[in-house]
Amino acid sequence: MAHHKEERTLVIIKPDGIQRTLVGEIIKRYEQVGLKILGVKMFVPTVEHVEKHYTLDLNWRQVTGEKTIKGYQSKGMIPPSMDPLEITARILEGLKKYLSSGPVIAMVWQGAHAVKIVRKITGGTEPLTSDAGSIRGDFVLDSYQMSDDDKRAVRNLVHASGSPEEAEMEIRHWFKEDELINYRLVQDEILYDVNLDGILE
Ligand code: ADP
Repeated sequence: MAHHKEERTLVIIKPDGIQRTLVGEIIKRYEQVGLKILGVKMFVPTVEHVEKHYTLDLNWRQVTGEKTIKGYQSKGMIPPSMDPLEITARILEGLKKYLSSGPVIAMVWQGAHAVKIVRKITGGTEPLTSDAGSIRGDFVLDSYQMSDDDKRAVRNLVHASGSPEEAEMEIRHWFKEDELINYRLVQDEILYDVNLDGILE
C-alpha cells in the first residue's frame, strides 16, 4: 500500500478564480499547509472535457442533486425540484458554460490526506455557507439561490476532488502521467521523517 504522503488530488482554479486575480493566494494556501505541487497547466477547457470531468463519478448526479435539495431545506426554503437528477441536469449545463468560459489552471497536489486537507482549505460548495477562513468562504459570496435564480452554476473559484479514488480518475482526465513530476522537497524530511534525527549536526 502506498504511504499516506503519496496521496494526490486534483485542483482546478476555475475561470472566476483567474479573473479575480486570486491565483497566487489560492496556490499559497495549499502550499503553506505542506502539500507539494506535482504538475500544473493552464488552458481553456472544451465543453466536452468539462462534461466528462463531472460525469467520471457515476454517483455525482445523484449526490449533487441531493446536496442541493438539503441546502435549500436547511435554510427553510423550497428546492427548485425534488428530483436530484433533474436538478443536476440543470447544474451540468451551467457548469459547461462556466468552466469553458475562459482559462483555468489545473494542478495536482500531493501529501498526507491531500484530498481531505484540500477540501478543508477550499471550503464547502456554496460560498454563502462555506466556513470563513476557507478559500470559498473568504473570497466569494455566491449562493444556490442566486445561481438558480440567474440559471447558472455556483461560482466558487476552485474545484477539488472529493475522494482519493475520484482524484486518481480526475488526474488521468486532466494530465498525462509524464506531465507530473515526482521529486523531493527538503521540507518532506520534517513533515514525514519518523525520527526527526537529521536536524542536529
Ligand atoms: P464541489 O465542487 O464542492 O465538489 P459538487 O461536485 O456538488 O461540488 O458540484 C460541482 C460544482 O457544481 C460546484 O462546485 C458548483 O460550481 C456547481 N454547483 C453545485 N451545486 C449547484 C447548484 N445547486 N446550483 C448551481 N451550481 C451548483
